[in-house]
Amino acid sequence: MASDGRRQQARALVTPADFIDRHPGELLGRLQQLVGVPTVNPPGENYDQITRWLTHELEALGLETRRFAIPAAKARAVLPAAQHAYPRFNVLAKLRVPGAKKTIHFNAHYDVVPVSGRWRHESPFSGAIAGGWIYGRGTADMKGSIASLLTAVRALRVTRATPRMNLEISFTADEETDSALGAGWLVANAPISPDYAVVMEGGEGGTVCCGHNGTLWLEVTVHGRPAHGSTPEKGVNALEKMSALILAFEDYKRDLARRTWKSPEGKTHRPTVNLGGEFGCGAGAKINTVPAHASFTIDRRVLPEENHPAAERELRAFLARAARQIPRCRITVRKISENYSCFSEPTDPFFGAMARCVTRVRKQPTRFNVSTGFNDMHFFSHHLKIPTLGYGPGGIHCHAVDERAKVKELLASAKIYAELLTTFAG
Ligand SMILES: [Zn+2]
Repeated sequence: MASDGRRQQARALVTPADFIDRHPGELLGRLQQLVGVPTVNPPGENYDQITRWLTHELEALGLETRRFAIPAAKARAVLPAAQHAYPRFNVLAKLRVPGAKKTIHFNAHYDVVPVSGRWRHESPFSGAIAGGWIYGRGTADMKGSIASLLTAVRALRVTRATPRMNLEISFTADEETDSALGAGWLVANAPISPDYAVVMEGGEGGTVCCGHNGTLWLEVTVHGRPAHGSTPEKGVNALEKMSALILAFEDYKRDLARRTWKSPEGKTHRPTVNLGGEFGCGAGAKINTVPAHASFTIDRRVLPEENHPAAERELRAFLARAARQIPRCRITVRKISENYSCFSEPTDPFFGAMARCVTRVRKQPTRFNVSTGFNDMHFFSHHLKIPTLGYGPGGIHCHAVDERAKVKELLASAKIYAELLTTFAG
């Protein structure tokens, strides 16, 4: 009896954080499993396999879990033809907590970008561990977040710690392309009703993300008139017109650089434009032909305080005006895609609670940032209009050779998620 009592007491003394620290192999093993399934997007490989595994894991943790297959017809309507053979899935899990009034939603994407180059360890999908880092495609972006969260939930379960809010977890597809069938599909179609959301990337270390820039991606085609290369005066050279148009952008860039916005951490942000990430000539280009077509892309980053449709109108008006001022310059503009910016004031108690958790676990002050790149936060913040933050273990060399995550950060994130779940009631 006495020894049983002591054992029970010893068990009760173990907190979720203790459990996470004492069992790093749990987290790392999960991450190796995840990295070992190459969910490369595009095209979107092995989604079936990884979502089956995730569903199984979530069910084993006691969550009511559903896997949603995107109907083939819907996928075909959204995806380019080369991706039609790759089915899309999203996973949603729920834990109802008796007496809890609010619901928190954790989201991560499980797709990864393609690999190239020579990696330090034999395969980018091996999950090799060396020098306090775990290597592999997806370790930093963002399968490490998935492993951290699963480990946090397992730690709560093992130590019998109760979350103070109902819990929703989604693992979604396609963030590396446009999320239309992933988080975009989820917020529009899945049975979710969160009051708060944590997208598990965007902020890391001592920094919690409270918003990100939007994007507006356009393609401009300049239409000239072909002629024989030996008589260029008989044609209209689309490349030369495009060059003049590109030079006209200097005014627009100067104008953008004058607009400033201060983020909560006091950093000055400016809207930006990147020209010609992709550019080229049309079909029929030949060294002895006057180019009839030239095209370039525009990547306009929209600040949280800017009005997105107004930014688009302004850019299109600028293009039309600039083209009019160049003799015989005819253009067409096509929208490739767009993502809205998002921003939640970190004065909301949710952010204060998260900052306290980060500070408690990491023993350092917490800052709030606004990310210049985008992630899936805007689906929750902009579409569902709920306080949304970005935080995860992160890592280095995302989208590059030798992508890796720090073991210490993975464990810290798991502890922070567990801390948030057991301290914040909404
Ligand atoms: Zn990501």
